[in-house]
Amino acid sequence: MLVPLNKLMLEIPEVKTISKQAGNTLTGKKIVEVFPPTHKHKFAFFKGDPSGYGPLLIGKKIKSTLGHGMFVDLYFDEDITFTISEGANMRYYNSSEPPPEKYQLLIVFDDGSFIACTVAMYGGIWAFKGIFDNPYYQGSLNSISPLDDHFDESYFENLLSNATKNVSMKALMATKQRIPGLGNGVLHDILYNAKLNPRRKISTINDSNKSELFQSLKTTLKKMTDMGGRNTERDLFGNFGGYESILSKNTFKDPCPACGDTIIKEAYLGGAVYYCPGCQPL
Ligand SMILES: [Zn+2]
Repeated sequence: MLVPLNKLMLEIPEVKTISKQAGNTLTGKKIVEVFPPTHKHKFAFFKGDPSGYGPLLIGKKIKSTLGHGMFVDLYFDEDITFTISEGANMRYYNSSEPPPEKYQLLIVFDDGSFIACTVAMYGGIWAFKGIFDNPYYQGSLNSISPLDDHFDESYFENLLSNATKNVSMKALMATKQRIPGLGNGVLHDILYNAKLNPRRKISTINDSNKSELFQSLKTTLKKMTDMGGRNTERDLFGNFGGYESILSKNTFKDPCPACGDTIIKEAYLGGAVYYCPGCQPL
């Protein structure tokens, strides 16, 4: 199975996986060189000019890492942070590996190992000192993750009651940053496990549907995270995750594992949705 690198997107399971791997692999390493983008990418976002990242980062040691929402943060001394988001990808190479031909940023460490950051359709690669006032970053940093115990039924109920009644399941779950890091990727198996169609309106779901959606949100994301991300996405080392997505571009047209009906793909709300018409009727 081949997934083009330019289609990869960071969502909660990948963010958690990559930040954990980065914590284990990069903590204590000191940056000795930073290479700016090899080519212009219209939708690669930086804080100022990326050629200024060198003076900010060189000589700094990685202290810790954190994955939140759709961001992977690396923390340095002197209140300096490096973060990537959404369609940005961070890949680790050891000193004996050749660097990729194209990248948006390449960071070399004191032991010769390095990370290369690339950008899919769009994504951010930001380095900054102090506070980053980007609203998506702040929203993500201050949100409660569905993996957290504080994301409980009453929190979810509150989130539902703040959404308008004619909003669909896809719009509820994966838009407006209600749940940062829950995007059009992980959405499909969450709705499949809750037996809810992506087009289903909030006004049509009962208490039992709500409870199943809440349970599925928690357990599906936990499983995806525990297994190192989805098998349609790559980790820090370029490997696919261990979670086999039930609904994805790889399984569409396959029979549903539960009922045998054919998995459907449709364009809906700015992206493809996948569902089983048997298990997830409208
Ligand atoms: Zn089915």
